[in-house]
Amino acid sequence: MYINGEWIQSSQRFPVFNPANGELIGDVADGDRQNAATAIAAAAEALPSWSAQTAYERSAALYRAHQLMMERRPALGELMTREQGKPLKAALNEVKYAADFLLWFAEEAKRVYGETIPSGRSDQRFLVHKQPVGVVAAITPWNYPISMLTRKIAPALAAGCTVVLKPAESTPLCAVAVFEILEEAGIPAGVVNLVTAADPSPIGQEFCTNPAVKKLTFTGSTAVGKKLAQDAAPQLKRVSMELGGHAPFIVFDDADPVHAAKGVSLVKFLNAGQACISPNRIFVQRPLLEPFLETLQELIGRMRAGDGMDSANSIGPLINQAAVDKVDLQVRNAVELGATVHSGGQRLTEEGLERGFFYAPTLLSNVNPDMLIYREETFGPVAPVIAFDEEDDVLAMANDTNYGLAAYIYTQNLSRAMRTFEGLQFGIIGINDINPTSAAAPFGGMKESGLGREGAREGIEEYLETKLGGFSI
Ligand code: ADP
Repeated sequence: MYINGEWIQSSQRFPVFNPANGELIGDVADGDRQNAATAIAAAAEALPSWSAQTAYERSAALYRAHQLMMERRPALGELMTREQGKPLKAALNEVKYAADFLLWFAEEAKRVYGETIPSGRSDQRFLVHKQPVGVVAAITPWNYPISMLTRKIAPALAAGCTVVLKPAESTPLCAVAVFEILEEAGIPAGVVNLVTAADPSPIGQEFCTNPAVKKLTFTGSTAVGKKLAQDAAPQLKRVSMELGGHAPFIVFDDADPVHAAKGVSLVKFLNAGQACISPNRIFVQRPLLEPFLETLQELIGRMRAGDGMDSANSIGPLINQAAVDKVDLQVRNAVELGATVHSGGQRLTEEGLERGFFYAPTLLSNVNPDMLIYREETFGPVAPVIAFDEEDDVLAMANDTNYGLAAYIYTQNLSRAMRTFEGLQFGIIGINDINPTSAAAPFGGMKESGLGREGAREGIEEYLETKLGGFSI
């Protein structure tokens, strides 16, 4: 743990395993609620001096962190592949994405503008001023174990806040590596604090109830996010929530089915489907169904599952046994209720894969609303395809979910693209595009996918309070 500028060891430790082969790769301090309280106190003490630094000074620290992260990109990528499982190339991409947030918010730090507003009274002036919300508590997931940290820490620091972060228990080593960078970048003691723990619940309790914490930012499952938002409500703490998704991917009959199938093959199987923006219902207009399925099946046939350190492998392991069980349950349920399996459909256990948590890239068709997979987030390498006939029908089906994070549309018809873009109740929409994410673009969900936006100009607003001055002159 890193608290008040010191690395804290503990006799209580917990192990970290490689999900590709079950090997022990390290252990970290198992923090408790008292450690969280100590870290919050350190962050509260560091707040006045950090927020009093000029935006230029805070920006300079973030620039240094960006530079260090880019220098260490190869080592960070390898660590991520061993700890989280995604193929090395994807891990290196994530490190770049993570560094992008440091750079973006190093720039945005200098653009925290206020405004003056004309008053109806000639003797009055209104001045609107932005100031940091205060101590921020952050909880991050394992699926993007470096970029989800910088997406919160960088804007918080840029705004002048101080931070206590609890990473996911599956990926604490990546978090330690990020905090080593922040320390070396010269961020003062107490400004950023890391509490690792095997049991997240007591740390979450402290974050939600300690009066010094003014803002809670969370990325993870909708169930945990709702619980934390409830626990933080009595003190009306500010909350940002990046939660689950159930992305529709709509292929209209004027699209190129081969191009659309390639798109699905790239975005669906990224990180073995363990992404909140992963397509979870692929709607294909009936005339394109056959060529679409044929192409996707062929592309899936070329995918190889295995340890992400081997560049021949494009499908890494799932994070743990529970993840495999969940995917397997959804696939078996779909098959029982009439789905057709074109590829995959089972856990992979040959050639040593049984030591890890590998699930075969899977293609299902004839998926219908009675199936679990139609409603529940899968977080695995399964592409469920549903045929549709009319544009109005598909819009209603796509919106028929409590989630509202990402959606994708494939069409060459501009009016249809615009109508669908406007009609979809999702926060992030790719139009003939499978990667609508960037540090410069607002990321976040509608409905039960979350509250607030990360990245972009909006990202720093989440860490700022608006203060109005009414001056009589
Ligand atoms: P996932 O299903 O992706 O693992 P979780 O929501 O369980 O999603 O985990 C996301 C983050 O939330 C992790 O850092 C995890 O430790 C944390 N977390 C899970 N349960 C709790 C809890 N009760 N209180 C605080 N944090 C929690």
